[in-house]
Amino acid sequence: MKTIRVEAMAKINLGLDVLRRREDGYHEVKMVMQTVNLGDTLILMRKEESGITIRVDHEELPADENNLIAKAARLLYEYCSIPEGVEISLTKRIPIAAGMAGGSTDAAATLVGMNRLFGLGLSDERLKELGVTIGADVPYCIQGGTMLSEGIGERLTALPDVPEAFLVIAKPEINVSTKYVYENLHADRLKSHPDIDGMVQAVRQKDLSGITEKMENVLETVTEKEYPVITRLKELMKAEGAMSSLMSGSGPTVFGIFSEKEKAETAWEKVKESGLAPQCFCTTFAPRAQTITEEKE
Ligand code: ATP
Repeated sequence: MKTIRVEAMAKINLGLDVLRRREDGYHEVKMVMQTVNLGDTLILMRKEESGITIRVDHEELPADENNLIAKAARLLYEYCSIPEGVEISLTKRIPIAAGMAGGSTDAAATLVGMNRLFGLGLSDERLKELGVTIGADVPYCIQGGTMLSEGIGERLTALPDVPEAFLVIAKPEINVSTKYVYENLHADRLKSHPDIDGMVQAVRQKDLSGITEKMENVLETVTEKEYPVITRLKELMKAEGAMSSLMSGSGPTVFGIFSEKEKAETAWEKVKESGLAPQCFCTTFAPRAQTITEEKE
């Protein structure tokens, strides 16, 4: 039976602005998204008997229809009337409820992987249209790389790859609900907004300092106020030589960007020693959200 292995990468937000709350409750955002080399592994296997089976190696995650992988698989089954079954096994590495789109990238990887496994021939555009019904970040995670994301996250503009840099990513031992953070953000009362247009220009000019100077996330006004560990992590990374450090998405994950590998590795050690963040990684930017390999059983 044919097997597909997909590495599904996480994202960070280099910049995140919320423009307003719409009448329907959704928030209009303007963000610069960036894929990072930190990912989950999904193994998709074709089965003769029909049905969707999910295997998950993490006790915090549902292994039933509530898993975003199952939702994505179900969506394709209904859209394409696939006659055979599929078994999907997830090895989870991306921190959960962390502001790194872990669930969305798994859902996107399922759509992309099943498209390949069953030879469905769907375009990325069609996969994005299907994916947005699962979550606003799923369309971005179909492709990944560096992108400007607008609307509720579905209006995407691909940008050139950012210059090479080294990242320390730290997730403190608290789980933050994205819904809670957005509900407690008062977009109309924000005193300042990030210069997302300036950041896009810096990305186009391949100017790493220009990018890091403009790093700002308005959701810090909610999450950082509640959890001082975020401020401590940002300060620790800066003290260790980060060009800048920021909370990703709705948090609580913090990342620092370093121009030199050695500095990033020292900072990584210091963050681990500090005990502030049990999940801590040293990595780089990635140009795509998935890498796919086909394997034969
Ligand atoms: P975002 O950055 O898009 O807000 P997040 O990193 O804050 O995402 P996720 O890790 O995607 O949050 O998970 C949010 C919730 O979704 C979790 O509480 C989890 O139970 C549920 N969930 C369902 N399927 C998955 C999955 N495959 N991976 C992670 N979470 C999942």
